[in-house]
Amino acid sequence: MPERTLPFIRDQYLAFEFDLRVNTEGRTKLVLTSEVRERAPFTIHKSKTPHHKPNSRSLWTMLLLQLRQLQPISGLCQSPSTARIQGRGRVRSEALQTQTLSSRTQRIMEGISISSEVGGAGGAYSYNALRRLDQLWSSICSAPAAPQEQWNVVSCIPGLFSHSDMSERAVDTFDIIVCGGTLGIFIATALSIKGLRVGIVERNLLKGREQEWNISRKELLELVEAGILVEDEIEQITAAKFNPNRCGFEGKGEVWVEDILNLGISPFKLIEIMKKRFTSLGGVILEGYSVSNISIYEDSAVMQLTEGKILSSRLIIDAMGNFSPVVKQIRSGRKPDGVCLVVGSCARGFKENSTSDVIFSSSSVKKVGNSQVHYFWEAFPAGSGPTDRTTYMFTYVDPQPGCPKLEELLEDYWDLMPAYQVINCILPCSLQLCFQVMGVLLDDLEILRVIFGIFPTYCDSPLPASFDRILQFGDASGIQSPVSFGGFGSLTRHLGRLSTGIYEAFNGNFLDSYSLSLLNPYMPNLSASWLFQRAMSAKQQADVSPDFINELLYVNFHCMQRLGDPILRPFLQDVIQFGPLVKTLGLVMLSKPQIIPSIFKQVGVSVLLDWFGHFVMLGYYTFLSLLIDPVIRPWLNTLPDKRKYEWKRHLDAWKYGSGLDYKQ
Ligand SMILES: Cc1cc2nc3c(=O)[nH]c(=O)nc-3n(C[C@H](O)[C@H](O)[C@H](O)COP(=O)(O)OP(=O)(O)OC[C@H]3O[C@@H](n4cnc5c(N)ncnc54)[C@H](O)[C@@H]3O)c2cc1C
Repeated sequence: MPERTLPFIRDQYLAFEFDLRVNTEGRTKLVLTSEVRERAPFTIHKSKTPHHKPNSRSLWTMLLLQLRQLQPISGLCQSPSTARIQGRGRVRSEALQTQTLSSRTQRIMEGISISSEVGGAGGAYSYNALRRLDQLWSSICSAPAAPQEQWNVVSCIPGLFSHSDMSERAVDTFDIIVCGGTLGIFIATALSIKGLRVGIVERNLLKGREQEWNISRKELLELVEAGILVEDEIEQITAAKFNPNRCGFEGKGEVWVEDILNLGISPFKLIEIMKKRFTSLGGVILEGYSVSNISIYEDSAVMQLTEGKILSSRLIIDAMGNFSPVVKQIRSGRKPDGVCLVVGSCARGFKENSTSDVIFSSSSVKKVGNSQVHYFWEAFPAGSGPTDRTTYMFTYVDPQPGCPKLEELLEDYWDLMPAYQVINCILPCSLQLCFQVMGVLLDDLEILRVIFGIFPTYCDSPLPASFDRILQFGDASGIQSPVSFGGFGSLTRHLGRLSTGIYEAFNGNFLDSYSLSLLNPYMPNLSASWLFQRAMSAKQQADVSPDFINELLYVNFHCMQRLGDPILRPFLQDVIQFGPLVKTLGLVMLSKPQIIPSIFKQVGVSVLLDWFGHFVMLGYYTFLSLLIDPVIRPWLNTLPDKRKYEWKRHLDAWKYGSGLDYKQ
């Protein structure tokens, strides 16, 4: 029997005999005919009976790849009632094949013709862009944890701009300037609809990326409610729809839902629509201009572009993303508290391509470079063709020297992705389909684009305004979930609140940093989700089982499923609420109390104590929003304008900070 090294089970040993039986209805059944001997990281449930039905997805994958790779298969007999493949397999560890790590990624990426790259997150697909992001990532990892001396983009200048020499050099004046156009165009359009004169400065072409955003229809309707999209346009921008949607946990089980993150939206089409709407409302877009520095005067914010142009406005909205130079200055270049690294591809050639994975957790941690990583997956059909599918692999890490580079993760991705997709498709298939699915090997896929990104997170998010007349928005504000990083999803949720608040701040001239900070207030539900990211980051700890993260997630999801849709659905859409959290934690403690000590070991006592504070605040905000808000609201109109503005923001913070904005 030939021995082969399968890439995803290096350093493991497995021997087995099996029958793969297919009945007349086309149902497949895998039957192990001998004892499985293994010392692999997968959970393989051994049966005492010879007719063992494995429930490990890993085993399925291995066997199917083995079927594909071992030639000849020892027998295939057809009868009217069953088709049967018999086999005997052995997989033994061998050293990693000698291949330079970058070559495969580079070869794949350089073999793809790239039609257009855009400035927003996940909008660059070239190998050079990957190298640049890896360099940035390395510099983040090696930066000291303490704040650093920074080049200042923003400076505060006493006096009035209208009295300064600079005022004559300003080429245009706006009510509000939005820097960065990806999510920036949405707030710019919402404010233009309210009658303000808004300009957008975007250093690239203002264009949405080809790679789709996935989102639920319910979230998109928030854009309709905010008045910037009409319902008919939802069809126009929807590139793909897929149901059902799975949350899977390797070797443990899965939870299936419907209509969660089940639409693939074309950012390209959506942003085209926004651009037309924005310009028809009198909005001005300056494409190909980069923000160089900003001076804050008592009456204006003045922006100098690298091309020498000077623009003035009363308020600047910083929507320059996670790597905004203004945010860097505010955070004094401080290292992020956690980072999510994501790599992936959109590829053609998936025959079974109707469902999606919201999350699929692998069963154990793995060493890449000097770091431990736990891989998670997300996959969904793409709109470019019926067999096109997007597959992301992501992991949460503490930024430090030795962390894996994106290119290293991509090398792992090419090894692991076909196996993950086989797992994804195999269960309901017939023998014919089974062979087709076994055909999901990398060589059989046409890689349409390679996708990658870095999501830095700070536990003290969202970011309050640090300067008068400048407010962060979108990823720059840190308002997106530290677990899902669905920045577009987060925008849909907060756009109505923010556009109203910014408009009122502008009209009332409440543009000092305190008043603007009320628009990005403390939100206990966002801070509480920080713990989830910590729990999902692999640690180098001998006393925590390598299966812990997978187990913890499975237990939580399973409990949420038992508690029903009102508990599970908001969570899957990044909304943490007090009641559902209490119920879930209660059920986890009752059904799996033995997991609690490992949680302490995994995240540490200080993170847990900190989290407990946010948990209490979540309860408090829920109380305030449910019981105190109705008492205060009728009095708002009797208050002076400034107090009224402040109280409205407090009420918003209670509601959104406790997740009570979520409608089932
Ligand atoms: C691989 C990947 C997949 C994702 N999938 C999803 C998803 O399915 N659903 C979802 O909701 N979210 C998703 N996201 C997140 C989403 O893409 C981001 O949240 C969103 O792009 C954030 O938009 P932003 O405008 O805040 O920041 P960015 O997208 O980073 O855009 C910042 C903009 O500012 C411009 N800019 C930067 N500096 C300057 C300057 N000095 N002067 C002028 N302009 C400047 C840039 O050119 C860019 O256009 C994904 C992200 C990645 C990386």
